[in-house]
This record gives sequence, C-alpha cells and structure tokens, in this order.
Amino acid sequence: MSRLLIKNGRVVDPSQKLDEGLDVLVVDGKIARIAERITDKDAQVVDATGLVVAPGFIDVHVHLREPGYEYKETIETGSQAAAAGGFTAVCCMPNTNPVNDNPAVTEYILARAREAAAARVYPIGAISKGLAGEELAEMGEMVLAGAVAFSDDGKPVVSSYLMRRAMEYSLLFDVPIVDHCEEPTLSARGVMHEGAVATRLGLRGIPAAAEEVMVWRNVILAQLTGARVHIAHLSTAGSLEAVRQAKARGLRVSCEVTPHHLTLTDQAVAESNYDTNTKMNPPLRSAEHVEALVEGVLDGTVDCLATDHAPHHWDEKSVEFDKAPFGIVGLETALPLTFDLLVVKHRMPLSRFVACWSTNPARLFKLPGGTLKVGSPADITVFDPELRAVVNPEKFRSRSRNTPFAGKRLRGWPVMTVVGGKVVYRRG
Ligand SMILES: [Zn+2]
Repeated sequence: MSRLLIKNGRVVDPSQKLDEGLDVLVVDGKIARIAERITDKDAQVVDATGLVVAPGFIDVHVHLREPGYEYKETIETGSQAAAAGGFTAVCCMPNTNPVNDNPAVTEYILARAREAAAARVYPIGAISKGLAGEELAEMGEMVLAGAVAFSDDGKPVVSSYLMRRAMEYSLLFDVPIVDHCEEPTLSARGVMHEGAVATRLGLRGIPAAAEEVMVWRNVILAQLTGARVHIAHLSTAGSLEAVRQAKARGLRVSCEVTPHHLTLTDQAVAESNYDTNTKMNPPLRSAEHVEALVEGVLDGTVDCLATDHAPHHWDEKSVEFDKAPFGIVGLETALPLTFDLLVVKHRMPLSRFVACWSTNPARLFKLPGGTLKVGSPADITVFDPELRAVVNPEKFRSRSRNTPFAGKRLRGWPVMTVVGGKVVYRRG
C-alpha cells in the first residue's frame, strides 16, 4: 500500500466547487480522502503550505514526434516535459511518421507510453489517411484501439465533404473532431500574420480570414451534423465570434487557445529580429486579436488552454525566417505564462484558471481525470502561485529548445506533479 499525504495546500477543484485549505490523502494511486487535518503515520507527507493543489492539468494538443521524428522528441522526453510543466496527461497529434491513421500506430503509441511515459498519453487519430485529406482514416478501429479524438492537425481538412463525413462518423463514438482551421489558398506561402508589421518586415502574411473562413465552415457543418467540433489553437477575434455564435445556437462547438497566442503579438517577430522561434501556425496576431482572445478566456467563450507543443531541432529552426518550420515547444512554460497573464494580471479566479487547464479538457475529450473526487485516479498538479523564476531552455526535459520565452521572468510555477499516486516531477 502506497500512501501520500499532501498537507496544508489550497485545494482548488472546480469539479467539486472546492477552493479551501485542505489535506489530500492518496492511497494506492487513488484519492482516498480530502479533509482538514488528516493524519496518517504510514504516509509519505508533503507540505503544501502556500501552494495550490489542483486536479492534474491536461494538455489536449501536443506533438510528441514518435514514431518517426525521435530526434525532435520522443514519447519519453515529451511526457517528461509534460510532467515538469505540471501536466498529468497529454493528447498527442497524429502527424507522426507513419501517421497515426490506423489502429497499429495507435497501439504502438500506447505501448510506448506504458513503457516509458511520465504522464498519461492519449492518442488523437488522423481524420484522413496519411493526412492527405482524401479518404477517411480507420476512425472506428482507432477508437477501439484507444484514440480519443480525430484531427489532421498541422493540415486543415480542405474538403468540406470529407469533413462532413468525418463529423457524421464521429457521432457513432461521440468523440470530438479537432480542426486546424486554415484555408490554404488564402494562407499560401504566408509566414506571419498579415498586417502592418508583415508589410514593414517584407514578409508574406497569413490573413485572419484564412482561419475564420474555416472556423465558420466548421460551425455550419457542426449545425448540419450535430457533431462535437473542437477548434484547435484559435487565434483571431473573428474566429472567437464564430464560436460565440455557435455556442449561443446550442451547437457542440468548443475551442482552445495557446499560451503564446495570448501573450505575444506579431511585433515579437520584429522585436526578436526575425527569430524563427516567433514563427508558428497560426501566426502570432496583432494586438486587437490578442486582446480579444484574453477577453474570450476571461468570459468563458474559450473552453480550454492548450500548448500546441511543437518541438523542432535546433538545426531546423536555424535558417531564414521564410524557410523555418512553424512551431514552438510549450509544455514547460505554459503554466506560469498563463498564470502570470490571467490570474496575476487579469485577476481571473483560480477555479476558472484550473477549469481551463483540467476540468474542461477532461470533459470535452471525455478523459479520466479533471477531478480530485474521492475514488478517482490521483492525478494532481501542485503549483506555487508566488514562485518567480526565469525560463531557462537549457533545463527543459524536452528534447527541443525552440521557445521565444527564454530569459522571461514568470510567476506561478509547477512544483510537484503526481500521476496515479506516483510523484513524477518535483521541483528542486
Ligand atoms: Zn499542432
């Protein structure tokens, strides 16, 4: 019998409307008791005075790169980065090599996760075979193998016909369809947000409309099919308006926003002197979009936060801005970036913050977790709301270092991550 007692923490669990000073007792990997002043002489005791104790954070959008691109990241290193970032579970996107478009790959990812992962790993299957956008992947077989959602992330599903079929098919399993919204004839060859900054820098722009056209298309198809549709890395004010209207109509449309889209504008490309770690897709937007996104998180239109953790090797990013791949790592900076912005700066209630990172992703993707209810698996994130520290990529557990946040001083870092009752990360 393993026993862990987390004492004197501020327990914030939106699933039980808890926000108070309590002790949490974990026995054999499950939450056994939550109460004031628990004593248990056989338990390993952790003093959480001054710390927040929350249901484990879940990142529904990461790229673990295995199989196929292990030089960027593996299931082992990616899940260690997750644990160090305060995440107890991640959903991994299917753009691996081979693509996760059939149950053999889904099973392989889950087997590797069982052997080597520090956090829970939930595979997202491809919508189309080979991400080619032509033929539906083996969705049903993948659900049976353990896929929790479907997406061609990295690529939009251009064919509205195929998207309709995917949505209809998803109803059989009631899993979400996650779309990377980008109209490729509008975004073609763009490398940053279309606007004054791109013009000044002489870089080709990606208009907000390239995303918004596809978000509206998906809202219309969600209405037609009744499917659960989740908009990945939503980045513009107009996309947010589409989601707002979809929700008002009672459609099952949800969305996520990334820490970088909430904290950086397209000015970062100029200010960093074309640092390729400011190149992501969707691109960093202008200030009015960023303000709208923050407002959308604060007013609840945005359901959850997600990193789009996209590791790339140093060599790949050390090229001209035009030629560099899109994407940045995100797992190990997500919590303090969003805490500092939303809770410290914008006074977001802690329970709403925890909901965005834990309760809501668990509900939308129907994952275990997102709660500290007695009897549930002991997946716990402990963070220090006062701890200030500087982002040091040299210390990342991730195999890649592509972050625009190096040297940034942030507040609110994770200090302990517990998965199934086992401490998988301890800051020290
Ligand atoms: Zn992605």
